[in-house]
Amino acid sequence: MLITHARVATLGSEPQLVEDGAVLIRGETIAEIGTTMELTTRHPREERWDAEGQLVMPAAICGHTHFYGAFARGMAVPGEPPTNFPQILERLWWRLDKVLTLEDVRYSALVCLVDAIRHGTTTLIDHHASPNAIEGSLDVIAEAVEQAGLRASLCYEVTDRDGSERARAGIDENVRFARSQPATRNSQLAASFGLHASLTLSDETLADCVAAASELGVGFHIHVAEDVADQEDSLRKSGKRVVHRLQEAGVLGSKTIAVHCVHVDEGEIEVLARTGTWVTHQPRSNMNNGVGVAPVEEMMWAGVRVSLGNDGFSNNMFSEMKAAYLVHKLARRDPRAMPGDRVMRLAYDNNAQLARVFWPDLVLAQLAPGAAADLVFLDYHPTTPLTVGNLPWHLLFGFEASMVTGTVCAGRVLMRDRQLLTLDEEAITARSRELAAQMWRRI
Ligand SMILES: [Zn+2]
Repeated sequence: MLITHARVATLGSEPQLVEDGAVLIRGETIAEIGTTMELTTRHPREERWDAEGQLVMPAAICGHTHFYGAFARGMAVPGEPPTNFPQILERLWWRLDKVLTLEDVRYSALVCLVDAIRHGTTTLIDHHASPNAIEGSLDVIAEAVEQAGLRASLCYEVTDRDGSERARAGIDENVRFARSQPATRNSQLAASFGLHASLTLSDETLADCVAAASELGVGFHIHVAEDVADQEDSLRKSGKRVVHRLQEAGVLGSKTIAVHCVHVDEGEIEVLARTGTWVTHQPRSNMNNGVGVAPVEEMMWAGVRVSLGNDGFSNNMFSEMKAAYLVHKLARRDPRAMPGDRVMRLAYDNNAQLARVFWPDLVLAQLAPGAAADLVFLDYHPTTPLTVGNLPWHLLFGFEASMVTGTVCAGRVLMRDRQLLTLDEEAITARSRELAAQMWRRI
């Protein structure tokens, strides 16, 4: 397929903006980038998709999400409003996840996948919990991901909060799913080993997880120091701060994702950098939960690999980028904090590197020969000059999710002219409304 008449923003290490550009896709990868004139001359008989002057750029990646949370939208939390983060967990998330059935898990994932396609996010790293429907839950999500045509890494959040039997079931689900993944590297699916957070895990369970994961060759995916409560709990349990506790347990490393890291000190940042552990930043979630602002720039300066997730907020990564751009300026009272190009680095370059933990051969977040054919069409026609250099600020101040009209993942068209081609949005919405209403009643 040959995409023609696009403003092609390639991103990558040598970013270009090709006016009246064209992108040739062969199978799952990009074969050539050039002007429309050049590529139509070279490939006259190729099937064409006229972008009509739209911006075509790499699709977005989400470093941390929770497909299971979709049915929380608009739901009133029963009882008094939570006053702190542990209460948010107890009153909202730990009530919600307990009532999920496997069908809820499926539709909750489908709702998020529709949202991801609509917003041009094609690679997602999910963290799943459904304590009363653990076994097989990752298969149900995997089926939805394959149906959508997207790419996702899945895991189950092991925790002790629901008793030792369910902790064991969580471990088994991670092991079962990871073993079921074929060795082929260009699969849409991948696995990691999920852990909820230090504050819901005993030393014994942590040791069981590390032992189980070592045979699989996968890293961990765990919330770290999201709230100060995680640090207080860790100091009580072990006399150590969270990052040190996890390091000694054998959880950290270059395949592990430490989600949030809002309350980490200098010593912990040094350990994260030294172990090559990934950190994901979710500013919308941090603001919503009132937990604080992660020291993202300090981590980046110290050599920590930081990427961007959404923690179950909409899969509109443009919104997450905007939040990241704004919150650090406010927190530091310095308009120079977290400039636009740094936000782009988090969201594209670093997220693409993170994705290679799961898909080592994939080149994502850039349009170049050999890169994955993951791209979005944006109906964006700015009234000011658009250049390679100022693209980040167009993205932060001009782009809106409603401008996404087309989404391609691994060369497969998932949305064209705002029409979804792989998922039946109307049917998913109708069934989700029924299931969500029933779920709310159970809560
Ligand atoms: Zn999370």
